[in-house]
Amino acid sequence: MMSKEEMKSRKEKVFADAKNGYDRVSEAELTEMESYCAAYRDYLDRGKTERLCVRRTVELAQAAGFVPYRRGMALCPGDKVYSINRGKGVMLAVIGRKSLGEGCQITASHIDSPRLDIKPVPLYEEGEMAYCKTHYYGGIRKYQWVTIPLELRGVVAMKDGTLTEVALGEGDEPKFVITDLLPHLGAEQGKKPLNEAFPGENLNVLLGSRPVGKEGESDRVKLHVMEKLYEKYGMTEADFTSAELEIVPAGTSTELGLDGSLLGAYGHDDRVCGFAALKAMLDLSDIPAKTAVCVLADKEEIGSMGVTGMQSAAFDTFMGDLCESQSVPLRVCYENSFCLSTDVTAAYDPGFADVYDKRNAARINYGLGLCKYTGARGKAGASDAGAETVAYVRRILDEGGVVWQIGEMGKVDAGGGGTVAQYMANRNIATLDAGVPVLSMHAPFEVVSKLDCYMTYKGCKAVYEAE
Ligand code: MN
Ligand code: MN
Repeated sequence: MMSKEEMKSRKEKVFADAKNGYDRVSEAELTEMESYCAAYRDYLDRGKTERLCVRRTVELAQAAGFVPYRRGMALCPGDKVYSINRGKGVMLAVIGRKSLGEGCQITASHIDSPRLDIKPVPLYEEGEMAYCKTHYYGGIRKYQWVTIPLELRGVVAMKDGTLTEVALGEGDEPKFVITDLLPHLGAEQGKKPLNEAFPGENLNVLLGSRPVGKEGESDRVKLHVMEKLYEKYGMTEADFTSAELEIVPAGTSTELGLDGSLLGAYGHDDRVCGFAALKAMLDLSDIPAKTAVCVLADKEEIGSMGVTGMQSAAFDTFMGDLCESQSVPLRVCYENSFCLSTDVTAAYDPGFADVYDKRNAARINYGLGLCKYTGARGKAGASDAGAETVAYVRRILDEGGVVWQIGEMGKVDAGGGGTVAQYMANRNIATLDAGVPVLSMHAPFEVVSKLDCYMTYKGCKAVYEAE
């Protein structure tokens, strides 16, 4: 008969070793994790929109010695540059010791998050209250956005070319809200399927209730609200047509749980990976072998389309410019490059166990979550990374002491999702998806684990530093 010890060693030899991250990291690392997460929270609290994320990214990059890239500038190993794409995306690079012809080590994340955008003709008065109409951006569960405090952030581009920044509802300022029906009168609404009970057209934000002028006049509350905006920003109703105003959840990030092991916030998807990729690049102490590139893209939540999305040639232009400075054809650089598509994945939620394959679900505190493929049904729409690419990443992560796991986003046929991975892969860049597992993804308040955040940072660093 086999002894207990023999059985154990035989199992250890051939079985996969899945352990909770807390059983694998040192005390020193947990201390580092806490300070990393404090920095992440600060980034998140300052970055409620993609534009604000870009601004903070540039501040941090400049403080770390990065300079704006100018076309044609000479680049030497160790040089740190960044390029902003129309205020809504940013690309950073640390030039490596090797030629760009040997490829780059790229991370690609996105800094746009689901939200409610304000329509071009938004303002109206009804029942002597003023409202603005919204158009949701990205995949949201609409019922989650009612009866919570909201802020208004964004920009108004004036006809004279000036850009006015709008920030309403910060700190102690008055907030906004979308009202919902009281249960006493909600019988009919309650019979509707969840995704029909809150039509997108009803996500109208309450802006005010106090009239100006004399009784009997029309639109007195709307006038009051519009005058407030005019006073503060010099904007008129027509200026909404050239504005990008976003309704986002009010408040800041917070620790969660009695043990404070989790972080709750708006916008983890995908600033949690974006910050990890950024911080890892800022923290590179030695000149990397290959050029390290960090892309923080916009528009992922609506398909990566448009001039600031990952499908835009803006990335190719930036990379092409870098390559030109070394007389390297861009296609040669791409074919030798690797990209970690760092975007969040679904964390296993025991409260909704039936939508997951428990054996293939990313788990909270099990570290950076690799996804060989995303997509839906028969992997439709997936960038299915090659086995060799996954092996390459396994090795890098293990050598870098990164706690990682691999999984799928939910059960086969339960749904699915996608990231920017396919657009990087389409460029002939070997690409693998990996990111932080999230609970309540796309909700106004999402949940991640500190350990997973920190391990994603370590994973990005290991990718940049790989020979
Ligand atoms: Mn995402
Ligand atoms: Mn998303």
